[in-house]
Amino acid sequence: MFSGKSIELIRQVNRHKVAGKRVIVFNFSGDKRYSGTAEAKSFDGLSTWSIPAASCDEISARVDAEHEVIVIDEIQFFDDPTIDLLLEYVQSGKEVIVAGLNLDFRAKPFIFRGSTRTMADIMVHADSIFALHAICTFKNGHICGAPATRTQRLRDGRPVAADDPVVQIGSQESYEARCIRHHSVAPVTSGI
Ligand SMILES: [Zn+2]
Repeated sequence: MFSGKSIELIRQVNRHKVAGKRVIVFNFSGDKRYSGTAEAKSFDGLSTWSIPAASCDEISARVDAEHEVIVIDEIQFFDDPTIDLLLEYVQSGKEVIVAGLNLDFRAKPFIFRGSTRTMADIMVHADSIFALHAICTFKNGHICGAPATRTQRLRDGRPVAADDPVVQIGSQESYEARCIRHHSVAPVTSGI
């Protein structure tokens, strides 16, 4: 979040297109920017087209033998079999490029849907890993400005508790990029 990972993904897509590769791009369809259609839409407002998807099945239904490069944004929101599908693509000679978050707002590893596996299970198979960080926007007289490795989840300006559902797409809450010193999670509310 705020780290420029989608911009980096578009840069990679464009490099492969210049090289004449057949590229297919997916974004997570839970993202309200794209929901309600399975048609490809502009990813960057320009010439990068992206297909909304949310699962392994939706990806495999659109990828055919001609595709040489598979690109997926927000990979951490997909389901468990997606991890194995991507490995199969690599083994069959395709190139796979994904972008995603390592940690949720609690600073715990993002767990794939229906899974115990995390981004680490993809990263161990990667030839290259780029760690992109936003800037910590915590303000106490001045903006902190340290590399932000955490996502601060806020409701009404206050940190939410660790027992809040991890993914609430389209909710009224806000997120900020924070460094490890300025990331916090509210105590779990008990018993109700
Ligand atoms: Zn900070």
